[in-house]
Amino acid sequence: MRGRHLHSRRLRDLEDRLDDAEQQIARLENTLRGIVRETNEVDVSGPCKCGESLLIVRQRTVYCPHCKYRRAI
Ligand SMILES: [Zn+2]
Repeated sequence: MRGRHLHSRRLRDLEDRLDDAEQQIARLENTLRGIVRETNEVDVSGPCKCGESLLIVRQRTVYCPHCKYRRAI
């Protein structure tokens, strides 16, 4: 039964880390939404094709702050 005990402990550890990660994401999302609300000229669009960031919309330009993808709209 020792192996089983270890397994459930590992699962619990993973669950804890997942909870932490989800809370961290929710916190970042709320912060981001707050910043977008307070700045008129900046908006946030869908995910960039690089997958590492959401696209930022500013002065009729869409760009990714991570991979430097940029295009006019
Ligand atoms: Zn990108």
